[in-house]
Amino acid sequence: MAHRVNLPALIVHGGAGGRAAIDERPGRQRGLLAAVEAGARILRDGGDALDTVCAAVTMLENDPLFNAGYGSCLTSDGHVEMDAGVATARRANTSPGGRRRFEICAGGVVLVSRVRNPILLARAVMERTPHLLMGGGGVERLARDAGLRLCRPASMVAPRALKRWQAAQRDTQADVQHGTVGAVAIDRAGNFAAATSTGGVAGKLPGRIGDSAILGAGLYANERGASSATGHGEAILRAALSREAVERLRAMPAQRVAELVIARMARYAQGEAGIIVVDASGRFGFAHNAAAMEIATFAPTAGSRHLLAPRIGVV
Ligand code: ASP
Repeated sequence: MAHRVNLPALIVHGGAGGRAAIDERPGRQRGLLAAVEAGARILRDGGDALDTVCAAVTMLENDPLFNAGYGSCLTSDGHVEMDAGVATARRANTSPGGRRRFEICAGGVVLVSRVRNPILLARAVMERTPHLLMGGGGVERLARDAGLRLCRPASMVAPRALKRWQAAQRDTQADVQHGTVGAVAIDRAGNFAAATSTGGVAGKLPGRIGDSAILGAGLYANERGASSATGHGEAILRAALSREAVERLRAMPAQRVAELVIARMARYAQGEAGIIVVDASGRFGFAHNAAAMEIATFAPTAGSRHLLAPRIGVV
């Protein structure tokens, strides 16, 4: 049976992990809705999926209640080291045989500490270099060339993140927070984009790199759809979670795909993670096996919504 196409569409997540503290829930909900609305404005005006996911993720990076940008959790020695990635699958000219062609592009940055919005730097890697993944001094030079202001690393340490780090120094059990952010969208023209940004996992060793900037793990996009993942980076990398999700859209609806890949990841890579997916018809999928994952969605008929994604039953 043919299903309805409902474009454009956008889905945003605020990380899979422990449930947010009660006093932070309203702020996080507002933050996610504001981010999805920022993206929805672009989509409603006929704008591009890449601009949409970057706008949504930038807003969440600026919000200290999320573990990305200003708000990032700290390494074991008390510093911010952020990873971020973007990916797009854009309709290219139809090939001579009449088949639709898609061009897939991506960019990622790792261990960034001097840029307020790592997602914009990931976009600069994609748009201004022949490379896919960058870090170190070269990426700071790129930031300058792209007109992104460099800041002092200490200015990226939010008071909330510092307080949590200090608590974790006193109590090794204290902090298993996540809160990475991500967004996936399809625009009216049928182009896909995905974006993921994170401070990583709290108390990580300096130099540790997670999944968020890695194409196929923390994000992916091709002609079938786009996805963004969150949770234990090591498990997501082992499962190549985002690529698996998008590839499986060939055979099943987005919601079933999300549930299936999380269940498989839990079984074979033994981690806690969440994923959001959008397919070529603008249908969403979202699933996680952590304590909580908050999402916000935009679709033309339903408008903007915030919800707490239900945890999947893990077999
Ligand atoms: N996946 C991120 C990482 O491992 C963390 C998260 O999503 O909460 O760096």
